[in-house]
Amino acid sequence: MDLLVKKIKTEGKVYPGNILKVDGFLNHQIDPKLMNAIGDEIYRLYKEEKVTKIMTIEASGIAIALATAMKFDVPMLFAKKSQSKNISPSVYSTKVTSFTHGRVYDVMVSRDYLNSDDKVLIVDDFLANGIALKGLINLVEQAGATLVGCAIAIEKGFQSGGKLLRDSGVRIESLAVIKNMTDDGQLEFEDDAE
Ligand code: 5GP
Repeated sequence: MDLLVKKIKTEGKVYPGNILKVDGFLNHQIDPKLMNAIGDEIYRLYKEEKVTKIMTIEASGIAIALATAMKFDVPMLFAKKSQSKNISPSVYSTKVTSFTHGRVYDVMVSRDYLNSDDKVLIVDDFLANGIALKGLINLVEQAGATLVGCAIAIEKGFQSGGKLLRDSGVRIESLAVIKNMTDDGQLEFEDDAE
């Protein structure tokens, strides 16, 4: 997606540990026009599917997921992170290790909002090693819902998650795929002619 790739090229900053910061338009300050365009693109990719719910994980997936849910005209459900010891029986829960913080979270959604009739499209900001997506897929499976696929704004294609999930049969659509990223700030994108 040209607009997103352009934004990453002009505003993205590479941090040690293979972390790309996009705080200016996605992870802190949010660019509504870009979110709208991302929603349009994800809708274009998945509109043939009868999606009933868009699902993401708090906090950074929420903006993209909401923009997407508005295009599909379905509810958006975000999994909540919690460090509490008591998991309520009224939720589906799993454990996810955060890529950026290294912390393990219990991640949960209420059983009230996800059920076996749902056809779920999972949306997130980044795909690195696939831990967040695997956690969300696990919640979908616990509910007996159908996973339609995943849509990601920025996939770091040099990390293992995309390949792992695609090899396991999950449809993954990424709007910008970074092939290579160096600590001095060089970014190489898939389909990049420059
Ligand atoms: P994964 O679970 O695929 O290893 O990592 C994906 C999750 O970690 C995303 O939900 C995202 O919030 C965070 N993440 C992974 N890599 C990056 C990155 O380079 N930059 C930012 N800002 N977040 C990342």
